[in-house]
Amino acid sequence: MAATRTTKKPAKKKKTSATRARSKPPARVPLVDYLVLGANGAYLRANECKSCGARFFDRRNACAACGGREFKKARVKSRGELVGFSIVHRAAPGIAVPFVSGIVDCGGTTVRANVIDVEADPEHVKLGMKLALATYVSGSDDDGTECVAFGYAPA
Ligand SMILES: [Zn+2]
Repeated sequence: MAATRTTKKPAKKKKTSATRARSKPPARVPLVDYLVLGANGAYLRANECKSCGARFFDRRNACAACGGREFKKARVKSRGELVGFSIVHRAAPGIAVPFVSGIVDCGGTTVRANVIDVEADPEHVKLGMKLALATYVSGSDDDGTECVAFGYAPA
């Protein structure tokens, strides 16, 4: 009986995260589905009712305004105006306070998001202030893939 021979393959050189990081930029994933990380900049994409034009960021079976069942994707304007806000001083462990939770009117589409890059106090945050969509890295995994979140910064 012939003995079977096994040939040992040379071990493949494993890439470390450091070599990966040098060879190409880290992969990026948006924190929420409606944040689009486009090649020409980030923007928000809403589900717009084909019947009445109401916009929603979550998936809907029917429009809350008219009951319509068909939606199309709509790009939301990236510039807006602060129409409501609250300065938050208490949050879950690990979340830095104070921060500004805001409601931003982006050309008729209402967006709830934090106001970033501003001092979180009434001296610096004002109703009617002009804002623009801004993204930031909120964390990364062991492979270096970055999670991208968004807020609105003074414009
Ligand atoms: Zn509708």
